[in-house]
Amino acid sequence: MIKNEEETKSVDFIREIVNKDMESEKWGGRVHTRFPPEPNGYLHIGHARNICLNFILADEYGGLYNLRFDDTNPVSEETEYVESMIKDIHWLGFDWGDRLFYASNYFPQLYDFAVELIKRGKAYVCDLTEEEIRATRGTVKEHGKESPYRVRSIEENLDLFERMRDGEFKDGEKTLRAKIDMTHPNMKMRDPVMYRIRHITHHRTGDKWCIYPMYDFTHCLSDSIEGITHSICTLEFDVNRPLYDWYLDQLEAYHPQQIEAARVNLSHTILSKRKLLQLVEKGFVNGWSDPRMPTLSGLRRRGYTPASIREFSDRVGVGRSEGTAEMALLEFCIRQELNFSATRVMVVLRPVKLIIDNYPEGKVEMMEAINNPEDPEAGTRMLPFSKEMYVELDDFREDPPKKWFRLAPGKEVRLKHAYYVTVTDVVKDEKTGEITELHCTYDPESRGGGTPDMRKVRGTIHWVSADHAVDAEVRLYNNLFTVPEPMGEEGEYTDYINPTSLEVLEGCKMEPGLINAKTGEKFQFMRKGYFCVDPDSTDKMKVFNRTVTLRDSWAKIEKKLKRRL
Ligand code: ATP
Ligand code: MG
Repeated sequence: MIKNEEETKSVDFIREIVNKDMESEKWGGRVHTRFPPEPNGYLHIGHARNICLNFILADEYGGLYNLRFDDTNPVSEETEYVESMIKDIHWLGFDWGDRLFYASNYFPQLYDFAVELIKRGKAYVCDLTEEEIRATRGTVKEHGKESPYRVRSIEENLDLFERMRDGEFKDGEKTLRAKIDMTHPNMKMRDPVMYRIRHITHHRTGDKWCIYPMYDFTHCLSDSIEGITHSICTLEFDVNRPLYDWYLDQLEAYHPQQIEAARVNLSHTILSKRKLLQLVEKGFVNGWSDPRMPTLSGLRRRGYTPASIREFSDRVGVGRSEGTAEMALLEFCIRQELNFSATRVMVVLRPVKLIIDNYPEGKVEMMEAINNPEDPEAGTRMLPFSKEMYVELDDFREDPPKKWFRLAPGKEVRLKHAYYVTVTDVVKDEKTGEITELHCTYDPESRGGGTPDMRKVRGTIHWVSADHAVDAEVRLYNNLFTVPEPMGEEGEYTDYINPTSLEVLEGCKMEPGLINAKTGEKFQFMRKGYFCVDPDSTDKMKVFNRTVTLRDSWAKIEKKLKRRL
């Protein structure tokens, strides 16, 4: 992989911290990380960076990593999401062994922790509604107001909390709150809610509980229970840290080190499960795995590989200030990989017939085609060639501009791996004026695409033999959003959805061997881009997704960035 030396040598700030900890034996030489998603959607490319960061980091130091579902909110969580996340992380190439955990497994322990805080006079049952709690929290400039229930005795709190758990109260009737400081400059410390009542079935615990612990209370204690050493989270959790510290200190619990790192943003898309869910629900895309989605399942269907996503994660790196990675960088990563691995094939996306008038009727020749010039091991295959061909309509101009090296009347071009041809005649539909057929002659001496001592031909185009071609549907994808940062624009982000993010081409013509291509298999369509077989394919008709075009816009961007430095 292309990487300049300095990049490889420099150690990110997280590895600096871990290196120091290893030197000082702070954790007794242990590194134990985790990836803690909330199962309320599908994983996206931002999560992927975080998974790679946590899991590769642990591996580098001979440590361990856990996968833990932070499933404290039964309202938005589902088993479907848990399953998709497990599948996606395995696909990325990680294995957490027997260390798959659920915060919901800790509900009994968390309940005991809450009781302990009550006993220590550090938590109380509050009768204010959730709205009233919000209204009395104060603002950044103003102190909050103490709840009148703050003075409840420990006995009364213990009794009420137990009755909350036993289902005596309705949703929202009571909460359990930490007793910290309503004048604290950090709003998170103003008697935050620890437990709320929700008579809702949980995806794992069913109806066993009707009180559910809040994320902040659960998260830090789950890390503590699991003996995590380095608890990596995104920058915005900076303000939660004092609260985590408070819970752990009050309970005298094992105390992981929290490290905040910038989240990954990607241009021309959005990375937020909640927003992605809206795209799904409002029908802007066809589900979470739509190839336009930045989800791992969408990227997989689009043709991205685990290696390309890991390469992207590595290149994005980890830092303490937020930025937006270019979509072009992600595309660069897959293009680079597929350039080495993808078989070059010929598929005509917008076909027009090309008839070779001086080629014998009924004759079929087999032409040898190189599978991948980047990979000598990839070998060759044979392609049928006959009198009637399909070529791209837009490879022909009746009235060509200067420097047009493709098909035009009287201009000689090379049919890749085959012969030189020269268009002699154009047939059009009388009514519409549309071109229906091109006629040409070929030079029998130019078999195999001509020899070095033959006259030069500037243009080479791809083709398929009409008699042997197989139909295909090709789906061309473009950016889902028309602007680099849809969240930073005026109005709704959905106002910036690209109306041409998907273009479906039916009646494409492909070389016959492609009928055997398997779902997920990847190809370079010569002169057109990288494509991958979609699961919608059947035995008779293949559906292909365009992963990326051949044009590398990242090279240009990188050059510009370098110039700026
Ligand atoms: P989302 O807004 O997409 O739901 P989240 O942070 O609420 O993101 P979680 O399921 O809580 O989603 O995330 C699991 C882990 O992934 C967390 O540790 C979180 O910090 C991290 N993470 C989420 N989004 C990103 C991102 N864009 N870049 C890097 N890390 C991320
Ligand atoms: Mg979250």
